[in-house]
Amino acid sequence: MSESASKSRTSSDPGLIASEYRRFVVVISGPSGAGKSSFVKELLRRYPSDLVYSVSATTRARRPHEAEGRDYFYLSRDEFRRRIDADEFVEWAEVHGEWYGTLRSQTDRVLQSGRNVLLDIDVQGGRSVRKIYKDGVFIFVLPPSLADLEGRLRARGTDSEDRIRLRLENARREVALVREYDYAVVNDDLEAATRKVAAIIEAETCRASRRANENR
Ligand code: ADP
Ligand code: 5GP
Repeated sequence: MSESASKSRTSSDPGLIASEYRRFVVVISGPSGAGKSSFVKELLRRYPSDLVYSVSATTRARRPHEAEGRDYFYLSRDEFRRRIDADEFVEWAEVHGEWYGTLRSQTDRVLQSGRNVLLDIDVQGGRSVRKIYKDGVFIFVLPPSLADLEGRLRARGTDSEDRIRLRLENARREVALVREYDYAVVNDDLEAATRKVAAIIEAETCRASRRANENR
C-alpha cells in the first residue's frame, strides 16, 4: 500500500486500523510427561503481558517444587465438592484418580482484562471448554514416542511407579483423541516445539473473525 493510501485510510477511518482483536482461551492438552508444564512456563516467559495461566484446583498432593496458587490450588475432596456445588468451576474432571478443575474466577478475570488465558487441562476438560469457549484454540502436545514419554516421566522423578504406570496407560487413550484438537505439536525439541506453539497463538490472534469494533 502506498504511503498516501495508508495515510488517507488512517485519517478517514482510524477505528478500522486501530481495531483490537478479541481475546481467547488457549487449551493445551496431552499425556502426562509430554511437556505441557514446560511449554506453559516458556510461553509465559515470552508473553508476560499477553498470556495468563489459569491456575486449576486439584485434590492431588502438592509436589515438592510446586507452590500453592502458582501451580495449583490444593483442595481436600470436601472443599472441592463444595466448590462444585457452588458452581465455581468452568469444568472439572477426574484425571489419573484425582480431581482437577478450571476455576471460573481464573478464566473470566483474564479475558476481561484483555489478555489470553492459557489452560493446561486433560482431554475431558478440553471437550467441556470447547462447548463454552467456541472460539478457543486447542493444541495437543505429543511426545515423540511412548518410550520417550516413559523416559521423561521417570526422569522427572515426581511420580511413584504405580502412578507412572497409570499415566502411561491413560496416555494411549489420550493420544487417540488428538484429532479433536485444532493443532498437534510433537515435543521432540522443547525450544522448536515452543516456537511452533507461539506461532500458532500469534496466527490465531490475527484471525479476521476476532477483530472487534469493525463497524464502529
Ligand atoms: P507434563 O506437564 O506434560 O506432564 P512436563 O513439562 O512436566 O510434562 O515434562 C515432563 C518431563 O520431561 C520434565 O522433566 C521435562 O523437563 C522433560 N521434558 C519436557 N520437554 C522435553 C523435551 N523436548 N525433551 C526432553 N525432555 C523434555
Ligand atoms: P499433573 O498432576 O501432572 O499436574 O496433571 C495431570 C493431568 O491433569 C494433566 O493432563 C493436566 O492437563 C490435567 N489437568 C490439570 N488441571 C486441570 C483442570 O483444571 N481440568 C482438567 N480437566 N484437567 C486438568
